[in-house]
Amino acid sequence: MPWFTSRREFLRTSGYLGFGGVVASWGETADADDTGSRKKLVVDSHVHLKHGDAAKTEYTAEVIVRVMDAVGIDLSIVFAMSTTTRRSIEMAREAVAQYPDRLIPYVYALPHYQRLVIKEIEEVLVGGLFKGIKIHAGECTLADYVVDPVLELAGQLGVPCLIDCLGNISAARRMATAFPKTSLIIAHMGRYLCTDPKLVDQFIALAEECENVFLDLSGVVLVDKIEEAVQRVGSRRMIWGTDGPHPKPDLVSFAREELEKIRRLEIPEEDKDNLLGGTILGLLRIKPGKSA
Ligand SMILES: [Zn+2]
Repeated sequence: MPWFTSRREFLRTSGYLGFGGVVASWGETADADDTGSRKKLVVDSHVHLKHGDAAKTEYTAEVIVRVMDAVGIDLSIVFAMSTTTRRSIEMAREAVAQYPDRLIPYVYALPHYQRLVIKEIEEVLVGGLFKGIKIHAGECTLADYVVDPVLELAGQLGVPCLIDCLGNISAARRMATAFPKTSLIIAHMGRYLCTDPKLVDQFIALAEECENVFLDLSGVVLVDKIEEAVQRVGSRRMIWGTDGPHPKPDLVSFAREELEKIRRLEIPEEDKDNLLGGTILGLLRIKPGKSA
């Protein structure tokens, strides 16, 4: 089912206009489609301003948007990691200031029991510009005394946490069951480039069990598991992203192939629409037909 009939209609009916600056200005600058054709947004929900690779590679907003234009991606969710929460906020703010109509920021949570970041995170989320939280188990422990205040805050504010738990199914299960009101987007369906179907199965099973668990499809190489998850969990809890930009073979080809990976799936078109944008827009509380 299409989400809205045109970009203008989308903006008129979505709660987004009431939120903060970001997509209000998106509505004014994007090419509105007034033809009545049913345009569905393609949303890349996993894009790094700064990666967690050895080189801690950074990409500018210009490069990210150039790739989006080349591939046909309408919106991207952007965040930085391998830096402090404060710096992640600055980087995302700068990027979104340049392209308020194309980029949606998440704040990077780097909690530590000796350093309070909750206030910084809460401030930007309540401010309305930032729509979610990124957590990475490579840089912060998922121990309850460190990560729980972040998960609790996310639940209170109704924003999702995109969390890379490095294949740690027991940590994922603990978080999902301890915070049923917090939407957890499990990066890479459990583990980046995972080739172990049994491990992926455990994450699919967790999503079957817990309605607050969503599956991020970036870095998933067992593509048949995506089709299986659509059957078992449903496309309304699955979210496409590229985990880009990625330079191999080149930035555009990489993103295009990631998009094609979804378009080639043997699932109904309606499910593809959910994967490619519908689910994340719903999770960010953009619900056509309901005003803010
Ligand atoms: Zn990533």
